[in-house]
Amino acid sequence: MASSDELVNVTRVDKPDSEWAKSLDKMEFQVLRKKGTEPARTGVYDKFYPKEGHFVCAGCGTPLYSAQAKFDSGCGWPAFDKCYEGTVKTEIDNAFGMRRVEILCAACDGHLGHVFENEGLTPTMERHCVNSVSVKYVPENLAAKESKVVDGGIASGALGALSPFVFLFGVYILSDVLGRSINAFTAAGVAQ
Ligand SMILES: [Zn+2]
Repeated sequence: MASSDELVNVTRVDKPDSEWAKSLDKMEFQVLRKKGTEPARTGVYDKFYPKEGHFVCAGCGTPLYSAQAKFDSGCGWPAFDKCYEGTVKTEIDNAFGMRRVEILCAACDGHLGHVFENEGLTPTMERHCVNSVSVKYVPENLAAKESKVVDGGIASGALGALSPFVFLFGVYILSDVLGRSINAFTAAGVAQ
């Protein structure tokens, strides 16, 4: 598929849950509108790797991911390493005592899943872990600009600024631990 600098048109869709309940099936409603999660390894797109086409939001039909962005992460849910620029937005999710970055359709706020960074699985270092029921496959190719979501999203401020400190703190802890064991080793040597 030829790459393109064109952006996908994102048109806001605002509907009350009562309206969504009419157009979505139970599982789609639970995941897209109530931020549920389909059981791992059960989604129709988990092991589906088309060479052509793209995936749209199951709620509003906005194109979100190209077929080429999908990869096998082995995690049990569809994984994408980039999205059509501007079609996915992020929010910090502190549910279940974890700090995760939620991904949502930028047009209808439908819950897609979560995005994980720096796992080294693909060159973009981004894994969009998406529920199968949140998206629908369309066989036609769509040439539009693709990008990572965290670089341009809300999360870049929170996570991007934090990561150098986390790294330095890790180095500090490691050197502290190393220092202590070297001291202990030296002390033990001296004692004998
Ligand atoms: Zn949507």
